[in-house]
Amino acid sequence: MKVCTKCNVNKRLDEFNKKTANADGRQNHCKVCASDYAKNYHRKKKAAKKRAVTRAAKKVPLAVTPAPAPSLQLLETKDLGDHLIMIFRK
Ligand SMILES: [Zn+2]
Repeated sequence: MKVCTKCNVNKRLDEFNKKTANADGRQNHCKVCASDYAKNYHRKKKAAKKRAVTRAAKKVPLAVTPAPAPSLQLLETKDLGDHLIMIFRK
């Protein structure tokens, strides 16, 4: 039997993952706590990545390329009182 350092519950040795570096050959935290830690680790990492991407997207403005101005030649202008007609040629 061994007490988990995370949940402080006395558990059987087979409820701990192996770790040959430890004197008893088992990790100090139980499999349940190890699983919870791993889940939290990946959830936090995923959230941090999402925040970083959002931050980066805010920093870099979208490239706005102005449309090239068409080179038009004004051929004729007709003033119709309330309308102005301008005729261009490319
Ligand atoms: Zn535990």
